[in-house]
Amino acid sequence: MHHTNFLNSKVLVLNKLFIALHVITVRRAFALLSKESAEVISVDDGQFNSYNFESWRDVSEYKLSQSSKVEGNWIKTFSFAIEAPQIVRLLFYDKFPKMRVKFNRKNIFARDDNTCQYCGKCFPSSELSLEHVVPKSRGGKNDWTNIVCACTKCNKRKGNKTLKEAGLSLTRPPVKPKYNPVFNLKLTHERASSWEHFIDNAYWSTALK
Ligand SMILES: [Zn+2]
Repeated sequence: MHHTNFLNSKVLVLNKLFIALHVITVRRAFALLSKESAEVISVDDGQFNSYNFESWRDVSEYKLSQSSKVEGNWIKTFSFAIEAPQIVRLLFYDKFPKMRVKFNRKNIFARDDNTCQYCGKCFPSSELSLEHVVPKSRGGKNDWTNIVCACTKCNKRKGNKTLKEAGLSLTRPPVKPKYNPVFNLKLTHERASSWEHFIDNAYWSTALK
């Protein structure tokens, strides 16, 4: 059982049609549950079950009473214990996820899988920087097709040169992602296994547009 950072652990949000929308904190998920605008979706032995706040609390207490060794994230108050949900479904929201992918550092790192696009090696975010393929000083743009992740070594070698001048090549052409990298959370290792089904759904339904 983990109590630390419990309220900040991640919950996948589905719309009414079970399409993955985004990821929120447990704190926010409980706020939605208590307003009865969302329900918990729990994957148990391959079955999807839904619960409102009260029935989820009952199930949590039952689980806790059945075993001293309980997995997952829990919160305990004076009067009850409740398990952190991994997935919630919005009961009144049937719109689809926003397709616009924000051009920011986090999403570029996600697109490039934290991999230097010159040497192809994987690095922690702290050892990567954003690099202009065509240098800014030579009219290179600040967009998806001209910015890639580069390790310190390759970044130094590249400097203000073109690819040809630096004798470097890209492991793949940089493009604007077709879907939101929030569905590509491999990097963060925070993705719960129960999300897989819904994340794949979201990927396929958005990639076909
Ligand atoms: Zn490199």
